Amino acid sequence: MNELKEIPKTVYGPVNSWRLGRSLGIDVLAVDSICSFECVYCQLGKINRVQTSREVFVPTSRILSDFKESEWQTAEAITFSGSGEPTLALNLGEVIRGIKAIADQPIVVLTNSSLLLNAEVRKELLAADRIFCKLDAWTEEAFQKIDRPAVGIELESIVKGIEMLNNEFEGRLAVQTMILKRPTDSDLDSYVEILNRITPAEVQLYLPSRPIPDQYVVSSRGNVAAFSGDHRRLNTISESQFLSVAKKIQRLSGIDVVTSQQNI
Ligand code: SF4
Repeated sequence: MNELKEIPKTVYGPVNSWRLGRSLGIDVLAVDSICSFECVYCQLGKINRVQTSREVFVPTSRILSDFKESEWQTAEAITFSGSGEPTLALNLGEVIRGIKAIADQPIVVLTNSSLLLNAEVRKELLAADRIFCKLDAWTEEAFQKIDRPAVGIELESIVKGIEMLNNEFEGRLAVQTMILKRPTDSDLDSYVEILNRITPAEVQLYLPSRPIPDQYVVSSRGNVAAFSGDHRRLNTISESQFLSVAKKIQRLSGIDVVTSQQNI
């Protein structure tokens, strides 16, 4: 019981999201930063537990109790993201179903796509309304450099997993990509080839605009624009170059592209 009291609130916000409006965050990890990746741009700062195995980090009853005490009625969307990779939580499906029994708002899950080859994970995700799947690279070398996955995770398993999920999912699946440097024409061809394999409903492109704290702090899971503690920011391409990349991807793929800067 005391241990449960020490777990930070598993429900936070609502925070303003450019994609979702007022979005209430659900953190099924909450006890620490826990992920199968260590992305160079991660807004959590540091992943303290890098793992690929699933477990229950916070009991479902505690998450649902936090939810009931939150301002969930004022949210436009309920988003599973939080302190790392939500599909690592073995009770993800149970929590989604529990929230659906209380609230009508769309349920959104942000995933780094690393566990999507697991049929049980895909089955749990089918209860969501929208799923945003991370895909940051189109070559194995870049994938290892940018997302720094746990040993054994390869780009092909990410692509295959998203493809399988999209074939089974009836809601809206988006591919999310962080743009860290200007892609060449050949990069764009490789990226579009992968998109055409997956056929997502939407592509979401980002620039790394958020500050990166030196250490994980629980407040970094929200939409933090600035930290008082030590942090750094990544240099990236200009906004006009970014929008031109977005337009090219939309033209080449025929898939709707939205960006963190503005819709194109
Ligand atoms: S997948 Fe998300 S939580 Fe995990 S390291 Fe990357 S940005 Fe951070």
